[in-house]
Amino acid sequence: MKKTRRPLTKEEIEGFKNKLLELKEEIWKKIARDLKERVKEEYQSILNDIHDEEELAQIDLQEETILGVLDARRKELEAITQALWRIEKGEYGRCLNCGDWICLERLKVRPQALYCLPCKDELERIQSV
Ligand SMILES: [Zn+2]
Repeated sequence: MKKTRRPLTKEEIEGFKNKLLELKEEIWKKIARDLKERVKEEYQSILNDIHDEEELAQIDLQEETILGVLDARRKELEAITQALWRIEKGEYGRCLNCGDWICLERLKVRPQALYCLPCKDELERIQSV
């Protein structure tokens, strides 16, 4: 695969930002759908009012089902939130580990990527040991 490592243009960053916002909304929709299927009725009205992590954090979530559903998506959401935050700070596109540019082809597939591929592989290798 071709690997383009260079600073992103404003237009590219804008494009990734839109993609990230879309992804975030999609995940929240998935969470809402998952919960609807698995959570007791009493939670439904509460959950309908949740739109981001802050609102979620204010709710006392005791139900294991809720936690289970959220856990699966939490990492994705965290990565997206972090990527958006890095756009604001002007650090988007750089690998968190080595500081090199994450290749463009990778960001197009995973705009929420926080690490370049070599670092990601290395981190996964360490974590799985
Ligand atoms: Zn790296």
